[in-house]
Amino acid sequence: MILQVEAVDTFYGETQALFGASLSVERGKVFALLGPNGAGKTTMLRSILGLTRPRRGAVRFDGREVTHSPTHEIARGGIGWVPDDRRLCPTLSVARNLGIAQKRTKFRSWTVKEACEIFSPLEYLMERECENLSGGEMQMVAIARALVGSPGLILFDEPSQGLAPKIVGDVLATIRRLRNEGVASLVVEQNAEIALSVADQAAVIDRGRIAWSGEAATLRDDRGLRQRLLGVH
Ligand code: ATP
Repeated sequence: MILQVEAVDTFYGETQALFGASLSVERGKVFALLGPNGAGKTTMLRSILGLTRPRRGAVRFDGREVTHSPTHEIARGGIGWVPDDRRLCPTLSVARNLGIAQKRTKFRSWTVKEACEIFSPLEYLMERECENLSGGEMQMVAIARALVGSPGLILFDEPSQGLAPKIVGDVLATIRRLRNEGVASLVVEQNAEIALSVADQAAVIDRGRIAWSGEAATLRDDRGLRQRLLGVH
């Protein structure tokens, strides 16, 4: 396993958002965490990165416990993050945004050039300031930025949100391609169909508790189960 989250309880002040939530992501595989608005999906990513620290439970990345490590150290260890609001430096060029994110880890290193080759339009945008990009272009830069950090695992927060279907298709193709290169992904999505189309394993979270976990194919193929857990066809 590249990531193991074990029975985490995470709070915002006195409000508990995760209740004994556990999940495991295999090396080089894609894991989909599904659930409705407010279920705790983003909180799970924040707990893994130490942005909102779990009060109880443990997070292990690449065999090492990181529950109490500073966020920058967790990222340096090889976890990339593609936040739902992208968080690029708006006044810097695409090239600068990628340049400052470059790092080496024990995992495969990605140069800016290699990361841009994943999305061919990026090479034509290198000198553009990020604030002048479309939503789809920003998403591509956000993924390329995660990649140049040479991650073993990328956390994707609602990668399809606000994107045109064609761009969503490009993002999914990229997640598949990264998987072929040995980079694991944890994809948090409200849109089960999108996430299940790329996932190997999946879990459903409901009001802060993991309600189901198993093979993604089980959920993909069983409409009744999907309906019961997610209320969708
Ligand atoms: P969404 O898709 O809407 O982001 P989510 O599944 O990612 O949903 P979270 O954002 O993790 O859900 O929220 C889980 C719970 O924690 C919700 O009840 C939410 O209101 C609460 N919560 C999230 N962020 C905060 C915060 N900063 N302060 C207080 N409560 C919060």
